[in-house]
Amino acid sequence: MVALSVESGTRLAANQLEQILQEEWRAEHRADHPHIDLYRPRARHWARMLAQALDIQALRGSLPVEETFQWRDTAGVSRTLKLQLIAQLRDSTGDRIVLALQTKGPNRTALNWSDLNDYQRLPFVLLHERHGDVQPLVFTGGDGQIRQFRWKRGKAADGVSEQASNARRTFERLVAGAFDGKVDDWTCDRCPCRTLCPWWMGATS
Ligand code: SF4
Repeated sequence: MVALSVESGTRLAANQLEQILQEEWRAEHRADHPHIDLYRPRARHWARMLAQALDIQALRGSLPVEETFQWRDTAGVSRTLKLQLIAQLRDSTGDRIVLALQTKGPNRTALNWSDLNDYQRLPFVLLHERHGDVQPLVFTGGDGQIRQFRWKRGKAADGVSEQASNARRTFERLVAGAFDGKVDDWTCDRCPCRTLCPWWMGATS
């Protein structure tokens, strides 16, 4: 949807948007999920709001970037890290526009470093550490706004490199079978990663 909007240089018409939604989320997709009647209308509503919120003029001349993000583990095997982004684009100046999704945002026009948790800003941090050219944006489904994400004030580069180093350390420990997460029933039962969590799957020590 973002790629087509940028390529065409116009806001998508309702029928175009509907066609994309039908193709991306076919009626049979997860049709037997008990909460599909909650998720599907929400996803559709947010997609429509995103289409409205995209600043087509500002993105004119941008190109979609289709890249997987990989790290090599200590044995030399490439591992893909899913960044769970809405879109990555290259703008006309060569900067990398990175658009992420959150449910809610603050009552301000921009998000500060401290408005996001470590894991929420990790995609921005990893891409910026690798490429040094990231302009982060956040779409918040709750209010349909796109806001700029501001890098840490003061020693911005230190914040990025410290968080990226921590992530790298966690990655290496995880690959070696050690899980450093804080496990407790209260937190984990509310965690969206619970069913995939390596600790709960018994895959790590
Ligand atoms: S389920 Fe796993 S990833 Fe989620 S909070 Fe618990 S330990 Fe962390």
